[in-house]
Amino acid sequence: MSIAAARVIVCSPGRNFVTLKIETSDGLTGVGDATLNGRELAVAAYLNEHVVPLLIGRDPARIEDTWQYLYKGAYWRRGPVTMTAIAAVDTALWDIKGKVAGLPVYQLLGGRSRSGVSVYGHANGATVDDLLSSVASFVSRGYRAVRVQAAIPEISEMYGVSAAAIYEPASAAIPAESVWSTEHYLAHLPGVLARVRAEFGPGLRLLHDVHHRLTPIEAARLGKSLEPYALTWLEDPVPAELPDGYRLIRQHTTTPLAVGEVFNSIWDGERLIREQLIDYIRATVVHAGGITHLRRIFDLAALHHVRTGSHGATDLSPICMSAALHLDLAVPNFGLQEYMPHAPETDEVFPHGYRYADGYLHPSEEPGLGVDIDEALAAKYPYRPASLPVSRLADGTLHDW
Ligand SMILES: [Mg+2]
Repeated sequence: MSIAAARVIVCSPGRNFVTLKIETSDGLTGVGDATLNGRELAVAAYLNEHVVPLLIGRDPARIEDTWQYLYKGAYWRRGPVTMTAIAAVDTALWDIKGKVAGLPVYQLLGGRSRSGVSVYGHANGATVDDLLSSVASFVSRGYRAVRVQAAIPEISEMYGVSAAAIYEPASAAIPAESVWSTEHYLAHLPGVLARVRAEFGPGLRLLHDVHHRLTPIEAARLGKSLEPYALTWLEDPVPAELPDGYRLIRQHTTTPLAVGEVFNSIWDGERLIREQLIDYIRATVVHAGGITHLRRIFDLAALHHVRTGSHGATDLSPICMSAALHLDLAVPNFGLQEYMPHAPETDEVFPHGYRYADGYLHPSEEPGLGVDIDEALAAKYPYRPASLPVSRLADGTLHDW
């Protein structure tokens, strides 16, 4: 059997997605997510111009060799565009291998290590009362873990607190801009978490995402101030280009730390993991080189008491979520999976067999990943340019996302 064709499909059923579909000479197909939020067409071009021609005629069973060929063969290693393209190929080949074997992919990864994949949802609100209602609605639907983001009265526009169901935000072709104030944020947030914890008691797992907006000592102060509310994790407190920042935070607080949704290879997090500077690694299938490479990252993490907590916002397609669930179910050091339901039109374009029940996601039991793309339907949703917003300080200085 050989790879007979590979197609890149760009569509926008509610938001933009890039998908790779590989066909074999035996008529099997496999799909991989290649979505890089806000830079979608760069990956589509990388695949079309530089990867698809290399795939034709290759043996689809040789997943590891194909990964090494695309990674080492490019000479220019790593980077989000390259690694997202490699991830799409890798994911599609695992899908095909599962179909050949007649097994769901998690069985090929060693079988299930747990009965279901624990997920957390996104609660937010324009006021603390709205936030409490949002948390309550997740609890009523069985969630045992909730990410809590609150609007800050002094800041007019903020990420992660939109009432719109479909987040991560990527709307205007030219990035929208908002104003950020670290001072107001650090003053406001502990009181919000205090109210949430008081309302819901000690059993509910609470998380909060800083989105890289603090310096290490500011994050250390925040971590300390949140200790009474026992977060499961504080996410992306500072940009991770400099691992020493996490060491500084660690020296001051026992609030657990999570980072990695923008990581694209094991080398982005190797030191953070090896020196136990973080507690959860949030790398994803789609941006970190596929199932093959993410398994490698998770195995390194397992050696160092770091658990998984993969990014799972709606900026990755149901194909990535399907692949993530197979890996989550199999690895020994699974921690928690982010989960945001997609828009109905996205679910229709990407028919999938995973299901949510009582705080858990369960992957499909079909052979392969249990997900596909309806290409005819996808064609009805053409690409629309969209960018993530940027934030600035009050004086106009561009700040971290
Ligand atoms: Mg995040």
